[in-house]
Amino acid sequence: MSNLPVEPEFQQAYNELVSTLENSTLFQKNPEYRTALKVVSIPERVVQFRVVWEDDKGELQVNRGYRVQFNSALGPYKGGLRFHPTVNLSILKFLGFEQIFKNALTGLMMGGGKGGADFDPKGKSDGEIRRFCVSFMRELSRHIGADTDVPAGDIGVSGREIGWMFGTYRAARNSFEGVLTGKGLSWGGSLIRPEATGYGLVYYVQHMLEYAGHGTFEGKRVALSGSGNVAQYAALKLIELGATVVSLSDSKGAIVAKDGGYVTPADIAAIADLKVDRKALTEFSVEDGRFTYIEGARPWVHVGQVDVALPCATQNEVSGEEAKALIAAGAKFIAEGSNMGCTQEAIDIFEADRVAKKGSKEAVWYAPGKASNAGGVAVSGLEMAQNSQRLAWTQEEVDNKLKDIMKNAFENGLNTAKEYVETAEGELPSLVAGSNIAGFVKVARAMHDQGDWWSKL
Ligand code: NDP
Repeated sequence: MSNLPVEPEFQQAYNELVSTLENSTLFQKNPEYRTALKVVSIPERVVQFRVVWEDDKGELQVNRGYRVQFNSALGPYKGGLRFHPTVNLSILKFLGFEQIFKNALTGLMMGGGKGGADFDPKGKSDGEIRRFCVSFMRELSRHIGADTDVPAGDIGVSGREIGWMFGTYRAARNSFEGVLTGKGLSWGGSLIRPEATGYGLVYYVQHMLEYAGHGTFEGKRVALSGSGNVAQYAALKLIELGATVVSLSDSKGAIVAKDGGYVTPADIAAIADLKVDRKALTEFSVEDGRFTYIEGARPWVHVGQVDVALPCATQNEVSGEEAKALIAAGAKFIAEGSNMGCTQEAIDIFEADRVAKKGSKEAVWYAPGKASNAGGVAVSGLEMAQNSQRLAWTQEEVDNKLKDIMKNAFENGLNTAKEYVETAEGELPSLVAGSNIAGFVKVARAMHDQGDWWSKL
């Protein structure tokens, strides 16, 4: 191991998966899966390239571009592109690794990948972002294709950037094909794709609430972080279902509703407008006295009593201390909209509470992003299916399929936990262990059948 580069985020994601596999009966029942684990943890391929572009002053700028093609045993590599100054190989490997098992949990035929660049869209003009997208895709277009690798958006990449990249691919390869998802509706996009991650997260948590005997979202207080794509649509669906959304955040700070206050659909529309222009939440809260703005903070220790907490901004956005504060504030359901939203310390605290309070309605239940935020990639998979048939399904059709996929992802994690993890009478099964095992076993079996690994056992 000593000759490997230091990749803290990837190691964290890897250790999280492995610790749940080790604490189950999986390796006792199937010791040969240890071999599969060794193989699956190394990407099939990593493409790294330079992206040279011209800024508005006519000066040359250069960034690092990447695509991690992690695993294709279940289908073409599939996963988003992130444009953010913090992007590096460790972060993209963690995201790609998570994506493999997440995609398996959707039940659709998709492998796992992730990519992006250390490009910061903030402070850039539309023209600069467009020129960057063109330059980025000019190289990436050699390595992807509708049956090879189908990227989507992620932090810093919305429908607009997907459009510019799709146009570049089409021109470079002289091919109009379903090579990206999150496309515009008139040129191959799917209804519900922008909403899918946030909506899917809420659908998933509905099953948690119901299974744990806590009813529906009606009247529940929900703390959200983030204010981008995932947070906006999670908030809208929560409001539609009768929940009270009490917080949002961005990279500069958090807004928390004052006593008795709440986030409205009009607030979300105003924030969405700000975010299109890459502006901060300061500009929203300053104009509106219903919220307290807390600079440089995440919402968790500031939200007061809540029933549900949904991290929807970025990785490691709930620390151990914040996990304790959320439990003290009454939060019983924590589900990640973001990828690896919780630190390992936070997960350990939530999981310990679940076990310690078994049989009580006070027990905390945690859902990992690879299950609870799978709705986005699931509808991306549905977009690929529609593109293959050159058809467009109705909003209702896609939404119903999304609901089914989230239900299956929940039940798959739940039932797999019951099968492989010792669960006491009255204890809520571990969704993190169950989802990890279910995703891993599906991929490992497919890899075995295709000769990616083999065993003498
Ligand atoms: P957006 O770019 O639309 O929004 C990201 C939000 O998170 C913004 O509010 C942003 O603040 C905030 N944020 C970003 N980085 C940080 C940081 N380092 N610290 C604090 N806040 C930060 O991205 P998405 O909503 O698409 O993605 C959010 C999360 O959900 C990510 O973890 C992503 O991987 C995950 N996800 C997204 C899916 C999708 O379909 N889009 C699918 C599955 C998971 P600011 O506005 O100031 O930049």
